[in-house]
Amino acid sequence: MLKNIVGCDFPKKILASAVISGNHAGAYLFFGPRGVGKTLTALEFAKALNCESPVEGGSCDTCASCRSIDHGNSPDVTLWSPEGQNTKIEQMRHMREEAWHAPLRAKFKVNIIEKADTMNEESSNSVLKLLEEPPDYLVNILLYENTSKILDTIASRCAKIRFTPAPAEEVINFLTETRGADPERASLCALHSGGCPGRALEILDDDRFDEKRAVIADAAESILTRDIHSALIHGERMRSLTDGSQKDSAKEALDMLAVYLRDIYAASLDPENADIVNADQAEEIRFRASRAGNKDLPGVIRQIIETGYALSGNANPQIALESLLTRVISD
Ligand SMILES: [Zn+2]
Repeated sequence: MLKNIVGCDFPKKILASAVISGNHAGAYLFFGPRGVGKTLTALEFAKALNCESPVEGGSCDTCASCRSIDHGNSPDVTLWSPEGQNTKIEQMRHMREEAWHAPLRAKFKVNIIEKADTMNEESSNSVLKLLEEPPDYLVNILLYENTSKILDTIASRCAKIRFTPAPAEEVINFLTETRGADPERASLCALHSGGCPGRALEILDDDRFDEKRAVIADAAESILTRDIHSALIHGERMRSLTDGSQKDSAKEALDMLAVYLRDIYAASLDPENADIVNADQAEEIRFRASRAGNKDLPGVIRQIIETGYALSGNANPQIALESLLTRVISD
């Protein structure tokens, strides 16, 4: 049910009222950070649109249509995910051809394009007509993390819905109530996720998360002590610890490093009352903060975040990471 999704209050409200009024768009563009709930919301919207007895604009979760979508075997609701690093033109042509066939069982055929950021211009252009004049039975939903990748030609043909992170408290409750997570661990995962429940779940299930945090702490120490040699070694260790694509790994490392350095900065301003995300390492963080001296930590954090943005574009992860470490150490 839409209402069971953590956070995403604004998107849930808009989509539920579209289901109630029957006045929905033929193309939507959902944008927001990874793990914030875009895919889940798109699937729940597909269920609600096709539900035999919707409840307040959400799905009933028990009818044949809801169950087939929940089980991933509805022939009419399709998740299009990138093949490798990109959403290929062949995939989009395939989607376009399929779109002209009416749904087999459902009222609405729903195409959900995950990581639409990975479509190149050619792939994007191939679906423009489908977005502009979809058949009555078709709803297309494009999901973007990186808004700089959204082409104007796509944006102008879609109803745009922004997804913002949920309050930490909601994510903590979600982890403790649905996954039985220990409250302290839940808090650590929620704060590291930046309010993105999907990301918080990944962290909770990541057996190597503490190992990664230890490497990040070493990398932060190298930055503070201006030791470029060990910073590069720790950067490489971090990348080798993470799964997934090189870009996702490097992005995860950067996010964790930014959080850790933000902890040190907060502790340097107010050692006793600082709100420290890595709460179990508070003592070590306060010690590091006491030695941070005149290092421009906000400037370093800003550069880390900018490198994260560059990675969502075309930057090479290894080069971006090495160049960042070299810059922040020599600054
Ligand atoms: Zn239903």
